[in-house]
Amino acid sequence: MRLFSIFGNPVSHSISPRMHNLAIKGLGLNACYIRTLLQDGNQIIDIFHILGLDGANVTVPHKEYAFGLCDERIGIANTIGAVNTLVKKDNLIYGYNTDADGFYRAIASFGALESVLILGAGGTAKAIATILKEKGLHVEVLNRSQARLAYFVDKGISANTWENFKAKKFDLIVNTTAAGLTDDVLPLDKGILKTLFADAHFAFDVIYNKKTQFLKLAKEMDKESQDGSAMLLHQGVLAFDLFYDHRFDLETITTHMRQAFKL
Ligand code: NDP
Repeated sequence: MRLFSIFGNPVSHSISPRMHNLAIKGLGLNACYIRTLLQDGNQIIDIFHILGLDGANVTVPHKEYAFGLCDERIGIANTIGAVNTLVKKDNLIYGYNTDADGFYRAIASFGALESVLILGAGGTAKAIATILKEKGLHVEVLNRSQARLAYFVDKGISANTWENFKAKKFDLIVNTTAAGLTDDVLPLDKGILKTLFADAHFAFDVIYNKKTQFLKLAKEMDKESQDGSAMLLHQGVLAFDLFYDHRFDLETITTHMRQAFKL
């Protein structure tokens, strides 16, 4: 039997086990996907081996530890500096980042975009900014504080704090901040957000299964919007595809995993 897990802290809320076990069951595979509460990120690879895992997903706050400790980092994970998927092959642990492509697949329904403003500058913002830049879109980052902006500036991405930002037209506004996750606050001053939405076509909040104030304001202003469910779904589909070395059709995996959501 093959064994997979998600590592996180906290991890009890994660729906990854449900998504992956639905795909395992739907495809008739001899496997199981469990959840593992990991306190110390430094132990991620040791615990991976102790549990006898074939693959894993990694969530907050361990993605940077996974990046640093896996044997090989593949593709866009190298630019982002974070790994959310670990795959064991020939006794080596390979690290991937499927959050970036998961986001890109999620926004496909918006159609062609030229410019995107990302609110927040944490790990998720890095993944999203990197994939959008790679795809040739104009990307800017807006964060409440300075410290995390160096990563973006270093990669040639315009990044501002609230103090020095001047509002202009963007096709899509993405909230990657934790504002709205456990509270009901907006990620940015309401007046500035209204100015941005007035010119934008779309809004995306990476927070899932919740109508945040950000999404409510977008709706009030008649903007097409999405929460983070589709991103979560697609990062999971792409991780499963890596676990099984591209053996199954992505659409089939998606159909099984989608049952975990109200999509
Ligand atoms: P980080 O902790 O790395 O970054 C959080 C960012 O939010 C920082 O830029 C921080 O600003 C900003 N921030 C926090 N609180 C506020 C606030 N009240 N107002 C304005 N800005 C704020 O988090 P992650 O990037 O790892 O995760 C962010 C969100 O993404 C989480 O809600 C997580 O659940 C979600 N997520 C969703 C996924 C999906 O598949 N849908 C995948 C991965 C994550 P500062 O720098 O000033 O501290």
